[in-house]
Amino acid sequence: MNNVKLDYSRVRGTGVSPGIAYGEVLLTEKVDFSSKKESITKNRAIKEWERLQKASEQTKKQLEQIKKEVGNMIGEDHSFIFEAHLMILKDKALLLALEKLIKHDLCKAEWAISQVYDRYNKIFETITDEYLKQRKSDISDVLLRLYRNLIPQKRKKTDDKKDKIIVAHDLLPSEAAFRLNQGNVLAIALDMGGATSHTAILARSLNIPAVMGLRNITQKVKNGDYLIVDGSDGEVIIDPPFAIQREFADKRDKYDNYRKELQKTAKLKAFTLDGVEFSLMANIELSQEVKGAFSLGAKGIGLFRSEFIYLQRTDLPDEEDHFKVYSRLAEDAAPFPVYIRTVDIGGEKNLPQMKIEKEPNPALGLRAIRLSLRDREMFKIQLRAILRASVQGNIRLLIPMITELEEIEEVKLLLKEVKEELQSKNILFDENIPLGVMIEVPAAAAVSDRLAKEVDYFSIGTNDLIQYYLAVDRTNELVSHLFKPLHPSVLRLLRFIVKSAHKEGIEVSVCGEMSADPLAALVLMGLGVRRFSMNPIFIPRIKRALRSVECQNIEKIVRKAMTFKTAHEIEEYVIEKILFKHPTALLMQEVPLIM
Ligand code: PEP
Ligand code: MG
Repeated sequence: MNNVKLDYSRVRGTGVSPGIAYGEVLLTEKVDFSSKKESITKNRAIKEWERLQKASEQTKKQLEQIKKEVGNMIGEDHSFIFEAHLMILKDKALLLALEKLIKHDLCKAEWAISQVYDRYNKIFETITDEYLKQRKSDISDVLLRLYRNLIPQKRKKTDDKKDKIIVAHDLLPSEAAFRLNQGNVLAIALDMGGATSHTAILARSLNIPAVMGLRNITQKVKNGDYLIVDGSDGEVIIDPPFAIQREFADKRDKYDNYRKELQKTAKLKAFTLDGVEFSLMANIELSQEVKGAFSLGAKGIGLFRSEFIYLQRTDLPDEEDHFKVYSRLAEDAAPFPVYIRTVDIGGEKNLPQMKIEKEPNPALGLRAIRLSLRDREMFKIQLRAILRASVQGNIRLLIPMITELEEIEEVKLLLKEVKEELQSKNILFDENIPLGVMIEVPAAAAVSDRLAKEVDYFSIGTNDLIQYYLAVDRTNELVSHLFKPLHPSVLRLLRFIVKSAHKEGIEVSVCGEMSADPLAALVLMGLGVRRFSMNPIFIPRIKRALRSVECQNIEKIVRKAMTFKTAHEIEEYVIEKILFKHPTALLMQEVPLIM
C-alpha cells in the first residue's frame, strides 16, 4: 500500500471536455446583478434609456472584438457563439422590455436589466431540456456585459502568467473566451453548466479539459490550491497526494495516446472484417459543427436538430433565417447527405417565443410534428426554406414524433402545396427530396410495416422510442436504471422496424444514443442496421468497434441473444461471445470519452 495522505477530496460532476490536467486554482468572481429599485422622473428616464443604448453600443463593440479574437484563436467556425450573442443584444423583444421598464415604470437601467434577467431566469427554470437550459448562460452573458457597461470599468490586468485551473460558479461564454484567449488556462471546473453550454463547446474545441455541474466546488477550494481535473470521467480531486498525481499522470498519457489513435481512425474505411460496409454520420445542432464532425470521420449529417435555430434567439426565425442555416449545412456537407429534422419543439422543449400553452404532461403533449401540424404557417416557412436549400441535392427531410399514418399524409399535402408555390415563382428545389420519418413513438414502430410503404426512409430515435416503450424517463434518477436498450422487448421492436424497412427496400438508420455505445451499436448491426448517426465525438470509437468484427458472426450472436429472457442475460451473452471471437471490439467501451 502506498503511504497516501487522506485529507484530499474528490468531487464528481459532468465531464464536458475530455482530458486530464493538474494545476493551481484561480477562482473567478460570481455573476451578480445587484441593484435596488429607485423611482426616477420622466426626464431622467430618457437619460437612462440613452445610457442603456450607449452601454449597448459598447457591448456590441466588445462582442465583435471577442468574435474576432475567438475566430483567430480557434477558427471562424467557433465565433458563431458570439454571433448569437450579438443577435440577443439586437433582439427586439429584449429591447422593448428594457425600454418599457425604463420609460413606463420609470426605473434606472440597472434595475431594468436585473428585472429582465429575473424574468428569463424564471422561464428557464421551467425548462427541462438540457440544451435549452444551457442557453440561459448566453442570455445572462449578454445582460451581464450590458449591465457592466452602464458604468464603464477597466478590466483588471493580471501579470500572473502562470497556467491555472479556472474554478467558477458559472463561466459565461464571453468570459471563457477572454480567459482562454489569454492562453493560460489548464482546465475548467464549474459549479454550474453542462455538456451543451457554449463554454463547454469552446473548451472542447480548444482541447481544454473541463468538468461542470460540480455544485459547490467554488466553496471547497481557494486560490492557490492544487487540483486534478479529469474531464474524461467528470471528476475533480482537490489537493491530491503524490500517489494520486502519479496515477492521473499515467491516465493522462493513456488518454493522449487514445486521442492520437482516434484521429487515425477517422481516416479508415467503414467496413467490417468480412467486408460489410456501414455508414457513420453525425447528430448536430449547429450548422457550424459540420467540419468538426467530418474531421472525426462523419460521412454526412444524420440528424440536424433544427429546433436549435429557435434556441439561438428570442423571436421567431423567418424563412431567410432558416434558409441561411440549411444552405450552409448543405454546402459544407456536400456531397454527403444532411437529414434536416423539422422542429422538435413543444413538451419540455418549450420556448417563450412560441407561446405554447402549459401542459400537464409535456412528454405526451403538443410536441414536434403535432405542433407543426397545428401551427401550419410556421411549418410551411420551414418547409419552404428546406426546399429552397435542397437545390444542392443532398438534403433529406425528416419528420419527428410521427404516431400515425394520417400525419404523414398531412405532411405530404403541405409539402405539395409548398412545392407548387415555389414552382409558380420559378424557384428551384430538389423535386425528389427524400421524405423520411423518425420512428420514436412505439405506435409508429408497431405499424412500421405500413409506414415503410409511405416514406423514403426511417430514422430510429431510440432515445424517445425506449423512453416511451419502457415508460421510463431516463432523466429521472429514480427510474433511470430501468432504461435498458437491450431489453428483449426493445430488441424485438427494433428488429421489426428494421425488417419492415428492408422489406420495402427503404433505408433505415439509428440516430439515438444507442448508436454511440459500442456494445449497443454492435447489437444494432446484428439486427441489420448499417447506418448510424451519433454525437460526432463518438464516431471514432464506433468505427473501431464495427471494423473489428465479422458482421455475419455478430448477426448470429444477436439472433441467439434474442432467445434470452432479460436484458441482463442478453448483455452477458453478447459481451462474452463478442469478446471470445473479437477480443478488441469492445476496447473502446472501457475508455470513456466524455459523460
Ligand atoms: C431520439 O429520440 O432518439 C432522437 C434522436 O431525438 P432527440 O434526442 O432529439 O429527441
Ligand atoms: Mg426524439
